[in-house]
This record gives sequence, structure tokens and C-alpha cells, in this order.
Amino acid sequence: MTTMSSFGSANIGAAQGILTVMDGDFSTNFLRNPTGTAHHPALVLNADYRPLSYLPLSLWSWQDAVKAAYLDRVTIIAEYDAVVRSPSTEIRIPSVVVLKDFVHPAKTTAFTRFNLFLRDEFTCQYCGSRGDMTFDHVIPRARGGKTIWENVVAACGPCNLRKGSKLLAQTSMHLRRAPCRPAAEELRNRGRKFPPNHLHESWMDFLYWDAELDA
Ligand SMILES: [Zn+2]
Repeated sequence: MTTMSSFGSANIGAAQGILTVMDGDFSTNFLRNPTGTAHHPALVLNADYRPLSYLPLSLWSWQDAVKAAYLDRVTIIAEYDAVVRSPSTEIRIPSVVVLKDFVHPAKTTAFTRFNLFLRDEFTCQYCGSRGDMTFDHVIPRARGGKTIWENVVAACGPCNLRKGSKLLAQTSMHLRRAPCRPAAEELRNRGRKFPPNHLHESWMDFLYWDAELDA
């Protein structure tokens, strides 16, 4: 067993300080860039054993995970070898935790740049290329086109330039998919296709099963 001597009682104390902030609600402040096992993030599952979110993947810092376990709000279902110590106790750092109370996911989808890219899977909706994306108003703003789900698509630079302020019918371009407001569930599932760089082996039982079956 690896011992993390650097995580002493002072760190546990600091963790308990943040605890009060979290109390009464679960933390949605997920780690966006888990850089590796050194940070020991914990995968957070809803009470139905599905991740709370895929993009970003619902990960807590080890401090949040330990706090939630201490508060009896989660069940620890997998652990790292590493431990943290306080003067009175020793606890192995959780690698997967499941919430005891089911959290109902949001039903609405925020109209953000990121969510729009996610809806279009970071793919140009005219030529299908990937990479640096920008946005295109299908009905150009100059012609009264609105900035809404139904009128904005991800587009690569060259397609965006080609289309300019023309109507689609005035070009030889075609949309791969008619843009519409995505259901929250649809967007959540789409996030599965973009796993973070680092995945701990203990998370694998709860992620991407269907993606592997599709492959
Ligand atoms: Zn394109």
C-alpha cells in the first residue's frame, strides 16, 4: 500500500473547512483537468450508478470525496491504494463514489458555445471536417437570422467564409443535420464520446460500455 505522508492532518482539517460549503448540496465543481493519479480524483456516480456528467466527467478532488464519505452522503465502491491520515483515523482515498440520494439531472440545456459544439460533435455541419470550429448562422444575421439553437451550427473556417452572408439556397452547400435544440439527455450522452485524457482503471466499469460495443 502506498502511503501519502504529505497528506497530513492539516490537509484533512482544510478539507473539512470546505465541507460546510458543500453541505446541503453536492459539489458540481468537477475537475476539468484531472492531470493524473497524483491528484487522486474520484469518479462520482449518481444513485443509479451512472456518472453525474460526462463532459466534464464528474470527478471530485480527493478532498471532496473524503468529505462526502465522512458525511455519509456517498458510498465508496472503489479505492486507490493511497491513504490519507488524520491523528485518529486513516482512510483509503476513494476512486469511485456513488451518491446515496439520486440527483435529478437538469432538464434544460443551456445555449452556450460549448453545448452547441457538443450538439454538433465538434464537426463542421457543412463539410464534416473536424478541428478548429467556428459558428455559422444558417440564415445570416444580416438577413434577420437569430442566434438560436435552430439557426446556428458549428462550421469550419473555410465553409463559414464560403457561405458568408448568403442563404443556403444560394449556395451549393448542404447541412448534414437540421439544427435543433438538443434534449439534455442527448447532450449528456454525446459527452461520452469525448473522454478525458486520464481515466483510472476503477472507473471503467461505469463508463463507455456502449461506446465499446459500438466500436
Ligand atoms: Zn466545413
